[in-house]
Amino acid sequence: MSFEVKEKDLLARIGKLKTKTVTVETPLLFPVINPSIQPIPPKRLKAEFGFEAVITNAYILWKRYQNKPVEQGLHRFLDFDGAIMTDSGAYQILVYGNVGVNQKEIVDYQERIGSDIATILDIPTGWKITKDQATETVKETLRRAKEFFKTKKRDDILWVGPVQGGRHLDLVAESAVKMSKLPFQIHALGSPTEIMESYRFDVLVDMILTAKMHLPVERPLHLFGAGHPAMFSLAVALGCDLFDSAAYALYARENRYMTENGTWRLSELDYFPCQCPKCRGNKPKDVLAKTAKEREIFLAEHNLHVCQAELNRIKQAIRDGRLWEHMEMRAHAHPALLSGLKKLKSYENFMEKQSPTAKRSGLFFFDSYDLSRPEVVHYRNRLSENYSPPKSALILLLVPQTQCKPFHKAREFQKIKQVLKGLNPELSRTVHVCFYAAPFGVTPIELDEVYPLSQHETALPLDKETKDYVAEQVADYVKRSEYAEVVLLHDPTNWNNTIKKALKRTCRAKQLPFHHLNLNVKRQKTILTRLEIILNKKQSE
Ligand SMILES: [Zn+2]
Repeated sequence: MSFEVKEKDLLARIGKLKTKTVTVETPLLFPVINPSIQPIPPKRLKAEFGFEAVITNAYILWKRYQNKPVEQGLHRFLDFDGAIMTDSGAYQILVYGNVGVNQKEIVDYQERIGSDIATILDIPTGWKITKDQATETVKETLRRAKEFFKTKKRDDILWVGPVQGGRHLDLVAESAVKMSKLPFQIHALGSPTEIMESYRFDVLVDMILTAKMHLPVERPLHLFGAGHPAMFSLAVALGCDLFDSAAYALYARENRYMTENGTWRLSELDYFPCQCPKCRGNKPKDVLAKTAKEREIFLAEHNLHVCQAELNRIKQAIRDGRLWEHMEMRAHAHPALLSGLKKLKSYENFMEKQSPTAKRSGLFFFDSYDLSRPEVVHYRNRLSENYSPPKSALILLLVPQTQCKPFHKAREFQKIKQVLKGLNPELSRTVHVCFYAAPFGVTPIELDEVYPLSQHETALPLDKETKDYVAEQVADYVKRSEYAEVVLLHDPTNWNNTIKKALKRTCRAKQLPFHHLNLNVKRQKTILTRLEIILNKKQSE
């Protein structure tokens, strides 16, 4: 197998991809090389910037240089000893229409120049076309993929099978299912460029996850045309392993300065928010004063440094199990990116199944969209499917979350513990303490120290959606359990009446006695005495 996964977080992975020339680490960005107008020589991309791979266009090579790359071999022709991927010219078809080369010719050409990773001549779906036309692109791409396996000669090249369908998700699914039956080593998601240019990151999430759901997980996925560092973490988190970027050069030509949080026009900048070797010691006005060519190279180099730095942060976040936090931080750079993050809710069960849920690090809970995190979904599913309270449990005592964790060791809980200790042992056995807490909902005391129930930090005050979610979890828990009575230690400061109301409703429907004690009264003693009375009353019945 040419792809080996080393680390995982969400659907992201750090992997080793073995090509015939070198083994490269993913997630991997391929800067796009255009030999005729290349601002930075490929050799420098590897030596100075650390890019282990580049991508170039086989169609452009064929048209402009014909046999030269064949005679020299692609690596010598580009003077690059890393991995070289070639695209087939499919994008040129999308932009310029039929380009006068057929698939057999372009496949044969890629084999003769010696690409490490090569692409069949697919038909990109594009954005502004009818469903019928989109269906045609899927069919034709599949037909060519099948035909390709009859004519290909070299087995040492990693071949890419593109998935088409555009924004028509049923077509994306169909394309992914059919392409995955063919022995491609890598898949690619076709034509998302226009979607990214129009900032439809929500649609991009739909497309990527639909493809992921129907592709073999062990094959790497390339996202064509995803060149901006602000969206890398989202795409990586969804399981894209490979990217290409022409944006670093295109933006540079238009005097645009990339950052991991968005793009600035050079003329808008008074300060450089970057310490890369280009920006360090330079001021935007000095760069503006350079010649157009010098400026373009300056910006292209800076843009590449930014892309590489962001990929390194993403890899570290994968290792630390903190990719969600990283992606969330980036998502706040633009509302359209945040819409992408919010879209993950629709895929939370798929994400949960694919993500590792035991980690080295705790998690940060900021806001209600973190409720879609795999750890939260995982706990909710496991609790409802696999958990039942101890057999002796008759009275459910619900205690609010405390600042300190694990909850049962918190100072606030010690007095309640005293009350329980003071009860007659028979009765005490029937009381089952559960904590209600964001984001996990109900935490039975005996699970309090199980990861990640104590290993998280939650931002207070909670938003309404989070309170509603926890209330729903508490109510569902009571609904499916068989307690005879419910006692709530009601904390209006953090929860308003959400938990109380939900419990009241549920207990009424189940005809369960329900008591609630307001923790906001001045005299704590009264609460404890009342708790004692409530619990003791149960015994006398
Ligand atoms: Zn810089």
